[in-house]
Amino acid sequence: MSHVFPRHTKANPPVAASGDGCYIIDKNGKKYFDGSGGAAVSCLGHSDPDVTQAIKDQVDRIAFAHTGFFTTEPAEELADLLVARAPGNLDRVYFVSGGSEAVEAALKLARQYFLEKGEPSRHRVIARRQSYHGNTLGALATGGNQWRREPFSPLMIETSHIAPCFEYRGRREAETAFEYGQRVAGELETEILRLGPENVMAFVAEPVVGATAGAVPPVEGYFKRIREICDTYGVLLILDEVMCGMGRTGTLFAHEQDGVSPDILCIAKGLGAGYQPIGAMLCTDEIYRSIEDGTGFFQHGHTYIGHPTACAAALTVFKKLDGGLVERVSPMGDKLEQELNDAFGQHPHVGDIRGRGLFRGIEIVEDRSTKTPFDPARGINKSVKKAAFDAGLICYPMGGTVDGVRGDHVLLAPPFIIEDSHVTEIVDKLDRAFRSVF
Ligand code: PLP
Repeated sequence: MSHVFPRHTKANPPVAASGDGCYIIDKNGKKYFDGSGGAAVSCLGHSDPDVTQAIKDQVDRIAFAHTGFFTTEPAEELADLLVARAPGNLDRVYFVSGGSEAVEAALKLARQYFLEKGEPSRHRVIARRQSYHGNTLGALATGGNQWRREPFSPLMIETSHIAPCFEYRGRREAETAFEYGQRVAGELETEILRLGPENVMAFVAEPVVGATAGAVPPVEGYFKRIREICDTYGVLLILDEVMCGMGRTGTLFAHEQDGVSPDILCIAKGLGAGYQPIGAMLCTDEIYRSIEDGTGFFQHGHTYIGHPTACAAALTVFKKLDGGLVERVSPMGDKLEQELNDAFGQHPHVGDIRGRGLFRGIEIVEDRSTKTPFDPARGINKSVKKAAFDAGLICYPMGGTVDGVRGDHVLLAPPFIIEDSHVTEIVDKLDRAFRSVF
């Protein structure tokens, strides 16, 4: 009997024994194509020799030094590179161990920023109904994903949730995509005014929505309008690129494609590519200075922030991503989109195929013409996941709730090293899974 506390207590997962490029091999020798990089993590694939060597070298030098006493070379170099490449005026990097921690740090930094500025009433957070920002209490309270929130309600932090920017589900027939984006962005202004701008601290959003809805990109102009509204009312814009960042959508930072810059940015997953647990929060010089010129101490911290071994791994990952790998993402993503459209574009239970770069979602519906989702009791996404896994494909099917409607989708986020034959392998295996479910 295993004494590991598993994610699903009734599951009996195989033992992952080794990794090889795009594949994970279990203890019985079965090979799985990692079509979702776990949960959009393994952007370099598995067992990259450069990253494993960097980890070994760092452990030989020094594995850990507490940030209460020291900084380290890999943390300094990685921060320099991130700041040099981040658009806008993001200027400081706070390293953490994962995505939820990055969001927690962002929320606390936003709060402290307004305290340092003498605006203590600004504490309210606004986010979107279709969102996931992590599982720790602050991050969970921020996310709009109902089935994750409900078991823990009432949550300790009050968050308002406005409509997502989800064209497939939300755009009215009479509107253009642009008009739709302006309309739903306008809900932010309405909510700020309802709460009173003097009470609102931040708006939090994923540039391309990941786990809750399956790679949903915003329509053109949406984030520009969001940025304008935040600026008008002095509200901080926190972008959560934990899942969609680090090249996943074809640019190093996902929001580059929307022509806006956040006040605080959260990254994780692809930052360490799964080789080490690491995330980061980047903030503007203005926010950093509010603390430097004020109390001089960010009221936050964990034992493993700025972990040198994690930073050394992420530094090598970053150099590979920025050294040419991210350039492969858009063309390979276009190829994946094309093959998905060829295979599933007319499928009676596929409502939408969407995404950017190597971040692609397929929305599964019972009825294509009415977009009606399957009854959640049928557990369609779980059946697809199992059938794909049996066929040797790891994909990330989930059920999401959008404006009260629970749906099913498949999220694909393969490693950036995929070749043309791998794209065909993903689509073939997914096709096999669909045939066995429908
Ligand atoms: N934010 C987003 C957008 C995510 O997709 C996730 C995880 O899936 C998180 C935050 C939480 O990250 P972690 O699971 O590393 O805590």
